Amino acid sequence: MIVDIHTHAFAREHFTDKFLADAQRARADVVKLLFTFEEYIEAMRPVDKAVVFGMKARRTGLYVPNEFIADWVGRAPQKLIGFMSLDPTEEDFMDDFERSYHDLRLRGVKLGPIYAGFDPTDRRLDALYQRCVKFNLPILFHTGTSFVQFGPLAVTRPYLWDEVALRFPDLKIIMAHLAHPWEGECIAVIRKHPNVYADLSALYYRPWQFYNTMVLCQEYGVMHKLLFGSDFPFTTPQSSVEGIRALNRLVEGTNLPRLREDVVEDIIHRDSLALLYA
Ligand SMILES: [Zn+2]
Repeated sequence: MIVDIHTHAFAREHFTDKFLADAQRARADVVKLLFTFEEYIEAMRPVDKAVVFGMKARRTGLYVPNEFIADWVGRAPQKLIGFMSLDPTEEDFMDDFERSYHDLRLRGVKLGPIYAGFDPTDRRLDALYQRCVKFNLPILFHTGTSFVQFGPLAVTRPYLWDEVALRFPDLKIIMAHLAHPWEGECIAVIRKHPNVYADLSALYYRPWQFYNTMVLCQEYGVMHKLLFGSDFPFTTPQSSVEGIRALNRLVEGTNLPRLREDVVEDIIHRDSLALLYA
């Protein structure tokens, strides 16, 4: 069983030109951001289940309607789990929540504080957090940095989620990308809160940083809190699996610490959905 906890769906009309230009900073090589449903499904062949979402962030120019995600899921409902995205800077974001949960049947939430420009500890979000606890819906947050010029770093530092989890200990939280490049701070949060996890998506293509992060996770004993994800289309599940398995090769012939290979396989094969919907 392989679950990809972090994949995107969107179309050209959901981006501003500015967002697309900024996205070229995402990786050193060029990212192909636009893709068809068929290309998406082909890329998901190695995984059994994939969580898919858009993003709503008027501030930085990405806005994917939740209906688009519901349609996407409807084309492969046995494989895909749709999360709604919300922009809490919008007055009616809780109406959007209720509609997406009850009518579109989306079963989790994706939020991007750095993209939309809001603080995850803002009391405006309490109503959302309460609803998610009530309905047992996980929230996957983009945490850590991003390529967007007008995304404020002040609202994306991992310690902020400590406060969210202190106030809502039953809320299931996934901190995406281990909050790179503040992975150490992210580990401090996921280690102390039983319902806070981190995903590994889009980290393998910075192998030295990723190796150090994984060694840190091993030393702090948080490998069981890591969820597999790709961040498609920024990477694919196949290249992400290969990238994780390749980490020990970096240190071959040295005395540097190695990752336990059975534990790495446990991460790749973790049933994240069972954890999140327990
Ligand atoms: Zn992402």
